[in-house]
Amino acid sequence: MTERLGVYPGTFDPVTKGHLDIIQRASHLLDRLIVGVAFNPGKGPLFTVEERVDMLRKDTAGLKLAHPMVIEIVPFDNLLMHFVEENNANVIIRGLRAVSDFEYEFQMAGMNAHLNDDVETVFLMASDRYQLIASRMVREIAKYGGDITQFVTPATNQRMIERFSTLEPAD
Ligand code: ADP
Repeated sequence: MTERLGVYPGTFDPVTKGHLDIIQRASHLLDRLIVGVAFNPGKGPLFTVEERVDMLRKDTAGLKLAHPMVIEIVPFDNLLMHFVEENNANVIIRGLRAVSDFEYEFQMAGMNAHLNDDVETVFLMASDRYQLIASRMVREIAKYGGDITQFVTPATNQRMIERFSTLEPAD
């Protein structure tokens, strides 16, 4: 049987329990998952791509998967569809939160289908405990010293505390 290989792209700045829940769920569908970490300098990330890859490696190492699935964490700086093709993947995994994600995700899936119709975008929903988590909000809470332990793993929480303790205080 051919290997079912998917790419889960994102910025992961930082990786949250919402992302980890999506990765766990993907194990129902795939044999191998490449988590593609976008450089995304345009988004002015808090962590470098190397730091984000490292945090994802640590956080995914502790995941209990429903089915055996190999997880690789790989940075990418090119067009998502080219990255998917280079890796011979045939599925793109995206997470869907509330309606707010829908329009953007719908458009992206449609454009990607035009670029390569053999690659299927599959949307997964996180469990309701993790549905509302967004990296942007997590960054905002941590920036002001709020408690983010419900939203990220202890290792990522520690990285966030360290990062904000070395940054200039916000205006
Ligand atoms: P991007 O810059 O691609 O939006 P993110 O790291 O914010 O990168 O998100 C990567 C993917 O994970 C997206 O498909 C996003 O919708 C999904 N995602 C993020 N947080 C959650 C969550 N709490 N529940 C479900 N999906 C999520």
